[in-house]
Amino acid sequence: MGEFELIRRYFQPLAENHGSEAVVLGVGDDCAVQRIPEGRDLVFSIDTMVEGIHFPQEYCPDYLGWRALAAATSDLAAMGAAPVCFTLALTLPEANEQWLTGFARGLSSASESFGLVLAGGDTTRGPLVLSMQVHGTVRRGEALRRSGARAGDLVLVSGTLGDAGAALDFLEEPRPSDDMAFVLGRYHQPRPRLDLGASMVGLASSCIDISDGLIADLGHVLKASGVGATVDVSKLPLSAALCSIKGIEAARYGLSSGDDYELCLTIPPERWKVAPEALKQQLTIIGAVEQNPGLRLRGGPDAVGNNAAGFDHFGGGS
Ligand SMILES: [Mg+2]
Repeated sequence: MGEFELIRRYFQPLAENHGSEAVVLGVGDDCAVQRIPEGRDLVFSIDTMVEGIHFPQEYCPDYLGWRALAAATSDLAAMGAAPVCFTLALTLPEANEQWLTGFARGLSSASESFGLVLAGGDTTRGPLVLSMQVHGTVRRGEALRRSGARAGDLVLVSGTLGDAGAALDFLEEPRPSDDMAFVLGRYHQPRPRLDLGASMVGLASSCIDISDGLIADLGHVLKASGVGATVDVSKLPLSAALCSIKGIEAARYGLSSGDDYELCLTIPPERWKVAPEALKQQLTIIGAVEQNPGLRLRGGPDAVGNNAAGFDHFGGGS
């Protein structure tokens, strides 16, 4: 199968999944054309995944299609951007039809579910590598950034943390229990927090998505903002499944393992007070921003300790 046939058969349908007025010209020309509405900024990001490094060898292609787009789209969520379209550069060892069918199926359901249309791409032969560039837009000048956290702000996270990292132990499990199935679902099919990110525009002082683990990613925010924070480990939102699987170790996963694609954000307390109830229900306050640089942990079980620096090499993040 040649490159054009491969694109026509497997990827053209994704370009037609749903019309987007913003994509004036999509797959099939030398470039795609995206129209940026008056009063909005273009927000874009690229994410590369390499077999054996960012996903396991022989990984299910359906999940790979979903995960690769979810990971890239999560960066749009972190900026508060509304998703528009994406491009895909796919390097494949061979044009295996079964693999391509599964991959396109996973990618297609993710693209429909996140609201991004395929606007173009490229295929080449080589070791399995995927690069996805995602495009979104945000109200002019209002993209959420890592650099806006100020002393006194609250530190919050969405959802539950640590589930995807715990799933790495069970990727080969032939008969997963309900708890295992729950964390596996979080690993295979993460859901970027697009609506939440967009709702935090104008409210959050900073935001990042948790791809490498809370400590690492909150650390980026603190550094970019020139501040520090204390996190109360007993406040970490942990799923019942994670707690039952990992017991006393659950908090370590919540602090350090990656791939959950939840959001970590900071917000001044006076803005939090007036935030809509529907937003508050999606977020958990886990700590506070302080002038003193560095990240401090308190309130954790003895298994965790209170030294955030000691977590650098723990966890299954990618
Ligand atoms: Mg990110």
